[in-house]
Amino acid sequence: MKIVVPVKRVLDYNVKPRVKADGSGVDLANVKMSMNPFDEIAVEEAVRLKEQGTASEVVVVSVGPAKASETLRSALAMGADRAIHVVSEDEVEPLAVAKILKGVVVDETPDLVILGKQAIDDDSNQVGQMLAALLGRPQGTFASKVEMDGASVLVTREVDGGLETVRLALPAIVTTDLRLNEPRYASLPNIMKAKSKPLAAKAPADYGVDITPRLKVLQVKEPAQRSAGIKIADVDALIGKLKELGVA
Ligand code: AMP
Repeated sequence: MKIVVPVKRVLDYNVKPRVKADGSGVDLANVKMSMNPFDEIAVEEAVRLKEQGTASEVVVVSVGPAKASETLRSALAMGADRAIHVVSEDEVEPLAVAKILKGVVVDETPDLVILGKQAIDDDSNQVGQMLAALLGRPQGTFASKVEMDGASVLVTREVDGGLETVRLALPAIVTTDLRLNEPRYASLPNIMKAKSKPLAAKAPADYGVDITPRLKVLQVKEPAQRSAGIKIADVDALIGKLKELGVA
């Protein structure tokens, strides 16, 4: 069984985003970038399936700038076997990413594609669903448990108010939620080993995809600053204050 895992290079989740002075976007100059956390979970799940003997090959793919190759090397260090880097210095919107991934899936014919449920930079939560639609394949999104069962996969999903389990016939698309697993740290020997694993460079045009943006960012703003709170001595004072503010 072959698994493809798409991974995105994003602003590290520990970094507080800074908005560019002209409001045109988030300033990414000289800030730490890392693998999207949900994608680390996807790589971990695929590598575990390989370690259990269920999967035979894990292929990671990233659409992004030259530096996305570092993200792919991190995935290789976690245990993926080889990588495909679709190089684009321009930002690629979710629909174009999904179309490129469709091209990768047509070439690679994996039984399973495991994506993150969302990229923490654009928070789109679209690529997995669009990829499933473009391929006409079943999808199990927001997975908190993935179990292989013959020619199908059982996906336990986090839904409002509980859990739902769906059975998908392979080949299928799964997206990961936070509770699926805890990704490993790559060991130094594995980081060294990853340097010699195969990494193929491609271009969006190799998959016949036009990445011209369809969306225009009008303005990016910092969230409004919270003003300081006040301390109230007792319930009477609280009610008085609420009346004063016109909310009671
Ligand atoms: P999104 O729909 O943009 O929130 O992304 C959902 C998932 O799609 C991510 O967690 C990744 O697994 C995958 N993905 C999104 N953008 C890219 C990209 N540029 N390269 C590779 N995978 C991506």
